[in-house]
Amino acid sequence: MTHRIVILGAGYAGLTAARRLGTLLKGSDAEIVLVNDRTDFVERLRLHQVVAGQDLPRYELADLLRGTGVRLQCARVETVDVHGRKVFADGEPIGYDSLVYALGSAGAPLPGDAHAWSAASPVAALRLRGRLARAAAGERVLVVGGGLTGLEVASEIAEARPDLLVALVTSGGLGHWLVPGVRTHLRRGFERLGVEVHEGVRVRELTEDGAVFTDATRFEADIAIGATGFTPNPIAADSGLEVNECGQIVVDPAMRSVSRPEVFAIGDAAWAMGPAGRPLRMSCSSGMPTGWLAAGHLAAEIAGRRPPIVQIRYFHQTVSLGRRDAVVQFVTADDRPKRGYLTGQAAARYKEALCRIAVWSFKHDLPTGR
Ligand SMILES: Cc1cc2nc3c(=O)[nH]c(=O)nc-3n(C[C@H](O)[C@H](O)[C@H](O)COP(=O)(O)OP(=O)(O)OC[C@H]3O[C@@H](n4cnc5c(N)ncnc54)[C@H](O)[C@@H]3O)c2cc1C
Repeated sequence: MTHRIVILGAGYAGLTAARRLGTLLKGSDAEIVLVNDRTDFVERLRLHQVVAGQDLPRYELADLLRGTGVRLQCARVETVDVHGRKVFADGEPIGYDSLVYALGSAGAPLPGDAHAWSAASPVAALRLRGRLARAAAGERVLVVGGGLTGLEVASEIAEARPDLLVALVTSGGLGHWLVPGVRTHLRRGFERLGVEVHEGVRVRELTEDGAVFTDATRFEADIAIGATGFTPNPIAADSGLEVNECGQIVVDPAMRSVSRPEVFAIGDAAWAMGPAGRPLRMSCSSGMPTGWLAAGHLAAEIAGRRPPIVQIRYFHQTVSLGRRDAVVQFVTADDRPKRGYLTGQAAARYKEALCRIAVWSFKHDLPTGR
């Protein structure tokens, strides 16, 4: 009997899983359906470039799936009925035997979120790009959040629009988790780009004309951009699957839901433990290996083979500082900074290569499980 696998979401995680399942189950009677709300692959890693006005190449999912046997269905998922083993997308039911949930995440909300702009999704990034295109010289931009995404967004805008006054507010020190050489380079890069940095303070609330910090400072801004992290798509929590407090599906080491064995969750949607018992961080660095891992387990289960042994581990954290500068912090398997790092043009080329390899791997079956 045909085994129907439905994969929700064609981002880094879902597309990796879809292609891998297509390869591993070629010639079997499994049917693989990939449901996504758009027909192109979004390079989310580059959305700060979109914000800054750069045009990215368009990759059609149909091209990236050619020859895999995976059927693409363009529809917006609304709910998952885990008891009835059905997904509702554009109002229509899609039944499944196995489900791979990879609906990703959006930007985490801030108090006063109605006043926030975002670079976390393609729609939000295009809106922000339009607002920045209309911004007059001297307008003030505040980026809220000093994590990897906040650093990339602030520096990309500052480089593209030196006529704007760009500031970044972060609850810690600038790049506080990185080794001293990387922190120094980051600080010099921000100075060169003219980004004003406010450290050790949070935003209490965004307002119509800027932000109020936790130390009661009122910061005037024309455009406030939230970059304090990601929040998973709420469909998982609403479906009754076991989720953590932020709404990610709790999974076992095979990326299988701990509450429904026929459901796998991968990428930003999954709460998975990595090396040394530390949770995987929401990132492409976790998303592609988790897609690879889940596909291997599911295919082995269907084909009656032994599942693969894949150890998810980290290698680096990368932060672009505009188009010509970046930092690459090499990390241990469990994501702690090592002594080694790259800065400057070498780091920028390294980061660019990573973004290209991710897309290239969707065309060439690169073993992205490492
Ligand atoms: C500006 C920026 C820079 C980043 N830089 C880095 C970096 O340098 N390194 C790194 O590791 N990570 C980086 N990240 C994080 C990384 O992009 C995410 O962690 C990664 O995209 C998660 O992959 P995913 O497949 O889980 O989700 P996504 O890539 O978000 O894919 C989700 C897919 O689901 C689809 N979808 C969503 N909702 C629905 C629905 N209801 N119905 C149907 N389809 C739906 C979406 O269209 C999308 O195709 C960055 C993120 C941003 C925003």
